[in-house]
Amino acid sequence: MTYDRNNIFAKILRGEIPCKKIYENEYVLSFHDINPQKKIHALVIPKGSFKDLDDFVQNAKDKEILEFFKAIPHVAKLLKVSSVEGGYRALSNIGENGGQEVPHLHFHIFGGEKVGKMVS
Ligand code: AMP
Repeated sequence: MTYDRNNIFAKILRGEIPCKKIYENEYVLSFHDINPQKKIHALVIPKGSFKDLDDFVQNAKDKEILEFFKAIPHVAKLLKVSSVEGGYRALSNIGENGGQEVPHLHFHIFGGEKVGKMVS
């Protein structure tokens, strides 16, 4: 499957629909999930057009990969859920069996309370 330019996160990146922004740099955007599953539920997405983690690691530049993975703990710190502030869970759903709904790579950051069972 090729990248779908009309997915909701692509529209957010193009500024066509709004988001509650937490952090942005040249490589990434982070914003609050519209339907939070925990007290804190943020998303971190790369600015490049990658549909999932597999696509990203195969096709992104090393700098994009580095900046993306650095952004996750950076956002956790901004949200005060870092490992020394209670901790958090970062996860990415990949493909149909992984439960991915939006076909643009994203990591969820859950925190602010016990996140609970890893898989249900
Ligand atoms: P996933 O199932 O891993 O693809 O997760 C997609 C996430 O995107 C869900 O947690 C949705 O609540 C979230 N989401 C969908 N539309 C928006 C939006 N416009 N702004 C913020 N989060 C969204």
